[in-house]
Amino acid sequence: MNDIQQKIIKDKIIDTIEDLREEIEELKLITGVVAPDRAIGRISRMDAINNRSINKSVMDNAEERLGQLQYALTKADGDKFGICESCGREINLNRLLSVPEAVNCMNCGQ
Ligand SMILES: [Zn+2]
Repeated sequence: MNDIQQKIIKDKIIDTIEDLREEIEELKLITGVVAPDRAIGRISRMDAINNRSINKSVMDNAEERLGQLQYALTKADGDKFGICESCGREINLNRLLSVPEAVNCMNCGQ
């Protein structure tokens, strides 16, 4: 991976972190962390009660992914960025573009 590619993936990680933070904030509104009357956007049109357990698991997944992205970001300026933590081979660039938090190659999985 060259410097330009590394910067593109790093920006992608930062963008995805921002998107996820917004998503988590919205999900917090409808999972009852914040009063439902403060719900905003398209999610306010959803049935907050029926969807609560689904939303909770979506939020858990989003928070888990956020953690993985923050970990990837700590590595984003290093020499080992884009190198599989398991086998030491380069992670496919297309994989990193779609899954910027990936620290393993396609073969080693996540
Ligand atoms: Zn690997």
